[in-house]
Amino acid sequence: MSNVKGKVVVITGASSGIGESTARLLAQHGAHVVIGARRMERLEALASSIRLEGGSVEYHSLDVTRLEEMQTIVDLAQTRYGHIDVILNNAGVMPLSPLESLKVDEWNRMIDVNIRGVLHGIAAGLPVMKKQGFGQFINIASIGAYAVSPTAAVYCATKYAVRAISEGLRQEVGGDIRVTLVSPGVTESELADTISDEEARDLMKEYRRISIPASAIAQSILYAISQPAEVDVNEIVVRPTASM
Ligand code: NDP
Repeated sequence: MSNVKGKVVVITGASSGIGESTARLLAQHGAHVVIGARRMERLEALASSIRLEGGSVEYHSLDVTRLEEMQTIVDLAQTRYGHIDVILNNAGVMPLSPLESLKVDEWNRMIDVNIRGVLHGIAAGLPVMKKQGFGQFINIASIGAYAVSPTAAVYCATKYAVRAISEGLRQEVGGDIRVTLVSPGVTESELADTISDEEARDLMKEYRRISIPASAIAQSILYAISQPAEVDVNEIVVRPTASM
């Protein structure tokens, strides 16, 4: 995977799950990873562990719902390394519930993190990549971007949006900039911990029995980054083999 060595990769939501696993894997392959999330103690521990293995990492606190914070981490990467190769818009939340529970605050949180967060990543990174004349956005959607399941209407809506935004971005900037959508199926992580609705939590517990490790998704991200510049992997769906 020599195409990954030396690449500068900004990762949102790197404090656990898929983001953490991807940061570790890319650093092992020689990338400079710039990691952000809200839980600083997790980022610090991850950065220490990556450095202990000889990897290159910078970290900064990041709330993706705030454009100025996304701008700050992109500026940090650019100042430190002079350019940015990849922005991995990975941060996401999934407080599932039936619509009739009217958990409006949780709907808004999903919209803010899962949609606005991705848009903020694009807003902060696109001018830099346009100026450089190269770059890659990797946006994490879900199999929920292809089909809606019970208790997941709003979550799926946010992921359909991420898919639509990614395809629109590809059509508009695809000449210079690669756009990759990665859609995981059920994957081991802390994602289900934010579910406050009992019915949705029980459904999810059952559903998550067949989870695949976060490293499986990290491998697909590594694959998309490591392709030659003229090859743009547009969509990857990774599910547990046992999925229906
Ligand atoms: P985790 O809960 O383990 O990770 C989510 C990450 O997002 C954490 O690092 C969290 O960090 C971060 N995050 C949440 N809110 C914010 C915010 N406002 N600003 C910055 N970072 C934030 O779950 P996953 O690793 O599973 O989730 C990663 C992505 O994968 C998400 O987009 C999710 O929707 C998607 N996905 C996951 C699947 C699965 O089964 N695990 C299936 C399909 C898609 P912190 O709290 O420290 O800010």
